[in-house]
Amino acid sequence: MSFATDAEGALMSALSSPPDAVLSDLWTPGLSGLQLCQLLRGDPATAHVPVMLCTNTADRRSRFWAKRSGANAFLERDDPESIVRELQTLVVTVALARRSDSSMEFDPSLRRSTIPGRLSTLLDRALFEAVVVGELRALAFDAADVDDLFASLARLMTEIASYTWLALSVPRPRGVRVYVHQHPRHAGRAIPGAVPSVVSPSDGPVELHVRSGTAVSSEPPDGPVSAFPITLRGRLLGRVALCASRSSLSRDEPVVMSLAARELALPLHAVGLLEDTRRLASTDALTGLANRRAAVARLAALTERSGTSPPLSIALVDVDLFKRVNDTCGHAAGDRALCHVADVLRAVARGNDLMARWGGEEFLLVLDGLAGTAAQVVAERVRASIARTPCVLDDGRSLPMTVSVGVAAFQGGSVDAFLDTADRALYRAKQAGRNRVELADADGPVTPPAGT
Ligand code: GH3
Ligand code: MG
Ligand code: MG
Repeated sequence: MSFATDAEGALMSALSSPPDAVLSDLWTPGLSGLQLCQLLRGDPATAHVPVMLCTNTADRRSRFWAKRSGANAFLERDDPESIVRELQTLVVTVALARRSDSSMEFDPSLRRSTIPGRLSTLLDRALFEAVVVGELRALAFDAADVDDLFASLARLMTEIASYTWLALSVPRPRGVRVYVHQHPRHAGRAIPGAVPSVVSPSDGPVELHVRSGTAVSSEPPDGPVSAFPITLRGRLLGRVALCASRSSLSRDEPVVMSLAARELALPLHAVGLLEDTRRLASTDALTGLANRRAAVARLAALTERSGTSPPLSIALVDVDLFKRVNDTCGHAAGDRALCHVADVLRAVARGNDLMARWGGEEFLLVLDGLAGTAAQVVAERVRASIARTPCVLDDGRSLPMTVSVGVAAFQGGSVDAFLDTADRALYRAKQAGRNRVELADADGPVTPPAGT
């Protein structure tokens, strides 16, 4: 046990040989007990030393600030019960601190600092971190999606840290999406191919979004990496990682990255909810295809483009005699059959075609870039695929299905008129005996190939 007459003396003694614990008055002349506590926390060699602060009168602010300054126990001399309680806590803390990280080196950058020098370094670090936290929180206000959030994060990190690449991973329904940004100073250097596995170990298939930077190479990361998980109430929302451009990480990089991981949790959660809401609002719950609202929005956007070039067509697909499926096999089998039609549409359509459940047993294909006759060929492929791929029900029964399709090419005018044209073609297909494709304003139906 050693005694010091003031906090300066206690600090100098702790800095020459870290003690097991420190007991100090809260308010001492010159350096206060609170500042002593913060200075001990500010050096890795004394950061673990338990500190107990004593006072005669404990106002709320002092108690709050002592806690935030890292004091382990707060004793009020005129409250014996609190002294016993706090001492018990302290005994446990001392034991844990002894077992834990008590072999850290002194911070070399503080080694020769005077007490005012140490205080000013501490103040500077605390202010820097507070400003970084403020900037990170501000990112949340402008981000409409994860893309936006990562773009803003990259802008901020470019100013703060010196890195070759910065990455953010977020889980997707299947696999993971990894965003990568290369610091402009390192433009021209290939992004190492190992980045996704560093930032999202074993998370399944990776969807890589390289925001800035050159091609991904097969190299491993070319510097020390600082990576942190982003969690909210115990749930993993993603990970952030940064690869330093020097041979070792600076003190600031892991600090900034851990702050980023903490502060990104809420905005990531918020944009995740926004994305879910947007997806649910535009998705059909039964089939997972786009819903009518999404299809109308896409059609409105496409028809507002200049005139009819590039061409645009739609195919309205209606399941034939579907009522019978419900009547004979039950409503659940009917639902299963609708999902089957959706699966066939997914398999047949091209990547940029929008497939939507228009309502009930009707589906809409929006075929951007296809003129009427080309769209008719796609529609015919859909019809033939459904006709030759019966739906297998849960009980193993095979349910043959057919569809009738009305195809229309956009000739100008309103979306409603466009849909109406396709609907009339569909009506003609039904009238002509079903299981066929009719092109609006065309001479005749496409004849089904033999055997379908
Ligand atoms: P058509 O060849 O003339 O189109 O005959 P249809 O029986 O397919 O046409 P109709 O309009 O008479 O019947 C459509 C049926 O689709 C009636 C309705 O119960 C059924 N249906 C609509 N939506 C759903 C759904 O979500 N699930 C199930 N199981 N059935 C649905
Ligand atoms: Mg119908
Ligand atoms: Mg029908």
